[in-house]
Amino acid sequence: MLTLISETDVYQPEPIGVKDILIAGDRIIRIADHIELSGIDVRVIERKGFKTIPGLIDNHVHVLGGGGEAGYHSRVPEIAIDRLIEAGITSVIGLLGTDGFTRDMKALIAKVKALKHEGMSAYAMTGSYQVPPRTLLKTIEDDLLMVEEIIGLGEIAIADHRSSQPTVKELKKALAGAHVGGLLSGKAGVSNIHVGNGKDGLLILFKVLEKSEIPVSKIHPTHINRSLELLEQGIDYSKTYGATIDFTTGLNEGPLSAHEAFAYAIGQGVDPKRITFSSDGQGSLPVFDEKGRFVSMGIGDVHTLYQSVRKAHRESGLPLECCLGPVTTHVAKIYHLAKKGKIEEGYDADLVILDSNDEINDVFLRGRQAMNNKDLLMKSTFSNP
Ligand code: ZN
Repeated sequence: MLTLISETDVYQPEPIGVKDILIAGDRIIRIADHIELSGIDVRVIERKGFKTIPGLIDNHVHVLGGGGEAGYHSRVPEIAIDRLIEAGITSVIGLLGTDGFTRDMKALIAKVKALKHEGMSAYAMTGSYQVPPRTLLKTIEDDLLMVEEIIGLGEIAIADHRSSQPTVKELKKALAGAHVGGLLSGKAGVSNIHVGNGKDGLLILFKVLEKSEIPVSKIHPTHINRSLELLEQGIDYSKTYGATIDFTTGLNEGPLSAHEAFAYAIGQGVDPKRITFSSDGQGSLPVFDEKGRFVSMGIGDVHTLYQSVRKAHRESGLPLECCLGPVTTHVAKIYHLAKKGKIEEGYDADLVILDSNDEINDVFLRGRQAMNNKDLLMKSTFSNP
């Protein structure tokens, strides 16, 4: 089956002007000024005046549901593929969180396989907040080597009252396991590090990097826009070691929102290629009133991922290609996601088409159209018809 997306403004994420994109099966096979086909069936999607961008990669989603910190009733439900599609997400990395006890790796892998079956490109991280990590098989290395979906370790919690309070030595051992497992399996072997609001922030990572041979590219700390102190420390950490950092899009408003933190970090000299965004989707999000009293429990929203890209472009004034990097090419590079994050011949046909207001209009998951003119075409197994 051939599909032709005609005359859209293509952002690879680098802008290459108005092009036609030809998709065969799950791949992009041709990008050109004008593609003429005759004698074969081709579905033409005309979107003149629209933009086509790579499908978004969300590197931190609690696909199985996170939370649980306010008791059993606060365990967040699983995510449905519908929510990911509406958010323009075509690849997702699922992980466990605080609760690596009532949720385990078997359930996470089953959920990731379910999302794959429904059409999403889905991956998993082994472990949860705890060190030593609670793995599926005996070791982190085994998990990376034997389980197709597992590409790294995390989220491991540091500087948080909910963490297992790992020592430098314990943390190094876990990171080394992921690194070696990654080498042997040809996968990223990256460790995603949850940084809480503890006063030490990233200090333990500085100590790990000063006193070990673990490559800095194998450590990817997240929630760096949690506080001004952590943001400043994250900027220093990235510049000192050439390290990558991640901003959580659902976490804060104002100067600590992911898009403002992104613009600020670039202004402070951080290489934009070292920054990613993730939604922390489907984690618990307690809502407090103006006096700080607990009001209700919300759910981390995967829609914030694209909203942050849009705001970075339209409100912070950064070029669209620059704002797309943290959810496309930068993530694909860190997590070794081959054929992902770019609109290029030979790459997976994971695409999002934006209308003139830069809102999500169409979504393609590996060549299959999942949203058409804002209508969902692909839904989860349990969605109402
Ligand atoms: Zn976290």
